[in-house]
Amino acid sequence: MSPWFHRHSHQSSAPEWILRLIHPEKSPTTPALFTYHLREKLALDGCPLCRMVRESEEQWTWTLLYEFTGDPEIHEKFARAGGLCAEHAELVRKVTAKRQLVTPSGVARLYETVTKEFLAGLARKRTPETRQECPLCRYRDQAAARYAYFLAVTLADSEWQQAFVKSDGLCISHFNAVIAQADRNVVTFLNDDQTRRLRDLLHRLQELQRKQRYDVPEPLTPEEIASWREALWRYGGMTFPDLLVHD
Ligand SMILES: [Zn+2]
Ligand SMILES: [Zn+2]
Repeated sequence: MSPWFHRHSHQSSAPEWILRLIHPEKSPTTPALFTYHLREKLALDGCPLCRMVRESEEQWTWTLLYEFTGDPEIHEKFARAGGLCAEHAELVRKVTAKRQLVTPSGVARLYETVTKEFLAGLARKRTPETRQECPLCRYRDQAAARYAYFLAVTLADSEWQQAFVKSDGLCISHFNAVIAQADRNVVTFLNDDQTRRLRDLLHRLQELQRKQRYDVPEPLTPEEIASWREALWRYGGMTFPDLLVHD
């Protein structure tokens, strides 16, 4: 049996409202599409899963704004969450401003419901209920878990391991997510890989400090100059000021 089918229940564990929003032709929701996207992301800077999750969030946001601003279930999610968190509100702003076929009226429609719900709570002079989780945070976590599982299975293949070693590797959050779903051989491979990267990073962070002293005339290498920025994304995850998906 193919390892892709071992954890079928994991892949179908996403809530129905999330599954309905995933466009299979645009998001790597199948193993074949995942490896297609993975090959592309391994050639780029930084953590490949950070990029894949972000692209998926952008696609989800576009789909939400294009097709689902009238969906009662989505309105209920937004109302219960009291709207989106700051990070995802900013993503909605960018997608609305920069992508085609989505308009501010879709955002207005969702937040009309959020506002009516909040006003109803105020009218009842009720203490505010705890906000439920931002729907896009929920989606992002589901996407990250799904891609981490795909990567854990993909890395059982030695050719994919070689390609992975040549890439920038994973941020710590996605490293932990893949480890949690990987078999013993892949855990060993990933631990060795991350150990090598972090030892190298540690050395470059130390050299950056040493060579910046006024009495040390040795020039910094480009890798040493980049070390502090790498530490920031390696431990914190990548952030993307601009949209990754364009029309
Ligand atoms: Zn990452
Ligand atoms: Zn969020």
